[in-house]
Amino acid sequence: MYKEKQTTSPPAYQNIVFLTGAGISAPSGLDTFRGKNSIWNKYPPDEVATAEAFERNPERVHAFINGLKAAFQKAKPNEAHKAISLLQQSSKADISVLTQNIDTLHEQANSKNVYHIHGQINQIKCLSCGCITEEWGSVNSQTICPSCNSLGKMRPNIVLFHEPILWTEKVEKLLETVDLFVAVGTSGIVFPAAGFAKIAKTNGAETVLLNAETIENSDFDEIIIGNAAETLPKFVSELLHSGKV
Ligand code: NAD
Repeated sequence: MYKEKQTTSPPAYQNIVFLTGAGISAPSGLDTFRGKNSIWNKYPPDEVATAEAFERNPERVHAFINGLKAAFQKAKPNEAHKAISLLQQSSKADISVLTQNIDTLHEQANSKNVYHIHGQINQIKCLSCGCITEEWGSVNSQTICPSCNSLGKMRPNIVLFHEPILWTEKVEKLLETVDLFVAVGTSGIVFPAAGFAKIAKTNGAETVLLNAETIENSDFDEIIIGNAAETLPKFVSELLHSGKV
């Protein structure tokens, strides 16, 4: 009797984690924080982005964030953000995005399962009642909490230097089960995110970095150099054609 030949399909990825950094939003016109023309060249982080700076001079930190908001609100997602969203819509794998970015471009590209480990520029948090409110407008030391009416207790819901990241339990869970870890547009300097690739690799994941420049990190199996708005759509298209997602 005729027997159909069995073909072995490549092992599928079931859990994919993207770690995105400022470089994925650079093609959308948002400055990175390091290097030429970067934000830290214009504003010293010690004065505008540390927990101590907020205690010392909250008005200065608010003013810095208010200034960023205008540019961030105008930005539109680029082909790299869209590629992640397309992969999420086209694949059976569980796909999550851990982003160091405080912009909302992944959401604007319709990505789901997006975790902002450094917070979001469009959110403020009340130090009195803990409520988190969406706010694209300016905030200052006189802003009143819309929930408990406290005066002067609102802070940006952004992780300042020397503060712990958000979503730690979720991150731990995702890095335990990930089988493909893809970092995009990140300098690998800011910890703990810079250590995620090592954890993923130790847990058996394949690790890939797409970045504009090489970085000193041996935790990646593959490094693809180039503009993420070009390299990521190509990477996603190849992944979709590989039969592995
Ligand atoms: P970073 O500025 O330290 O590094 C960005 C990396 O992206 C660099 O290695 C650079 O070579 C690369 N890059 C630049 N343009 C690129 C492109 N077109 N394609 C691919 N790669 C490109 O940023 P980071 O590693 O994300 O860490 C710094 C911190 O800065 C994070 O905490 C993040 O919260 C914050 N940040 C966020 C935004 C944002 O929300 N858009 C912008 C700037 C900084």
